Amino acid sequence: MALCRICYNDTSENSGSRYILRVAWFMSTLVMKFGGSSVGTTIALTQLLSIVLHERRHHDNLLLIVSALDGVTDMLLEAAHLAQVNNQRGYRRIAATLRTRHMSLVEQLPLGSQERSTLQADIDRLLFEMLDVCQSIAHTPSIALPPEASDVIAAVGERLSARIIAALLRQNDLRGVAIDGTDVVITSAVHGNAAPDIELTRERVRQHLLPMLASNIIPVVTGFIGATPRGKTTTMGRGGSDYSASVLSLCLAADELWIWSDVDGMMTTDPREIEEARVIEELSYNEVAELAYFGARILHSRMIQPLKERSIVLRIKNVYKPQQPGTVIRHTTGDSPPRLKAVTMIQGIGLMAERSGALADITRLVDETLFQTSGSHADVMLSSQSSARSFLCFIVPTSAGLEAVDMIRNALRQRLLNADPALAGWTVQPLSVVTAIGENLDTFPALTGQVFAALHGIRILGLAQGPSRCSLSVVVDPQDAEATLRQMHALALSR
Ligand code: ASP
Ligand code: MG
Repeated sequence: MALCRICYNDTSENSGSRYILRVAWFMSTLVMKFGGSSVGTTIALTQLLSIVLHERRHHDNLLLIVSALDGVTDMLLEAAHLAQVNNQRGYRRIAATLRTRHMSLVEQLPLGSQERSTLQADIDRLLFEMLDVCQSIAHTPSIALPPEASDVIAAVGERLSARIIAALLRQNDLRGVAIDGTDVVITSAVHGNAAPDIELTRERVRQHLLPMLASNIIPVVTGFIGATPRGKTTTMGRGGSDYSASVLSLCLAADELWIWSDVDGMMTTDPREIEEARVIEELSYNEVAELAYFGARILHSRMIQPLKERSIVLRIKNVYKPQQPGTVIRHTTGDSPPRLKAVTMIQGIGLMAERSGALADITRLVDETLFQTSGSHADVMLSSQSSARSFLCFIVPTSAGLEAVDMIRNALRQRLLNADPALAGWTVQPLSVVTAIGENLDTFPALTGQVFAALHGIRILGLAQGPSRCSLSVVVDPQDAEATLRQMHALALSR
């Protein structure tokens, strides 16, 4: 809880000229982000409502960031691609499915007739606008889908959900107001993966959100979307609502950010791979950033830095078990003995050549191929060379999907066959990268030693110590991946 916060309450008609300086003692601001799985059904929305009603009593200011209903962004992007190939029936069918899904949610919610009919009109209007954009894509022949248009279409999901949630709050005597992210989050013009401009966003927050909070309004802001300074809609990468939430928390100087989803918190490893996985009680900002980077799908990898900058406490909680503490992320004191907190696994592509030499051409070729097959860029995870051999390992982003590795490997083989002779001789293979995460791993060789000892009998193809000082990655053959994960994870469970 902040001891003292200074709020500028803008009372001028033309903003920027006159402020009332309000010094609020013991004012606390909580930002809560609700992901797709916590807004998709009436049961989830009932949970959301009771959480907001409860937290209202404990915090002076509440702000919500919401994602689109589960799966909606995928469908919208699919519609955009269908429009690109002029499949009118395809994108119309998607619009109809989205309409039915949102309309039936509105039907099932306990809403007054006025709220309900306004929402129904909003749903129709937003989906008509989406169809309009699809139509103009379909009628304008071009080789690739224009990313500006794709962003406008993808943004519809959050616009729909924010309106529904704000109406639900109003129905329950809370002053919920749906706010479009384009009015507050100002970003670069990199459509599909825009980066927020903190200073411009802070200014918008001061103009639009602070006066609302001062009047007891709960803004329900669309996650994922923003706008360029000239007002063009952008999106901040898949899972971008987390990023919106973290940037707005920073600009509001929030005390805490809580991310609500349908999992119990950050886990020691993926429970679908290893059922003994447990919830981690506490992590440092560095640890959680590495976890997100090395494959834990639950958080957007760029969302940690803004929180770390201002020491905003982050909690990951399950919307169905609000009384459980979940995982807390904050600056750690460094007093506790170092230990391994989590182990992740991510897919990669390995390239090997029976010779040494420059790696730039092959790196470019892999990145281009990955981008063409999946729309994502690869990260070079590790490269090593000896007198007679070269080895390169690329991480395939989780957002590229599970089949990405096979797709890329086949596409790469094909391209290497046709490529210029300078690239001849490279062979491609899928790889797995297993990463152990724990603060200050690098200064405790005994811990690193335990990690290696746990890998008894497994052939290590490559190794990387993360520059964050809290990760150690080993590259192994995919058939050894599960054993590697299991053996390393046993260390994370032992205290
Ligand atoms: N709805 C967007 C997505 O599915 C953003 C988010 O959920 O965070 O990627
Ligand atoms: Mg997410």
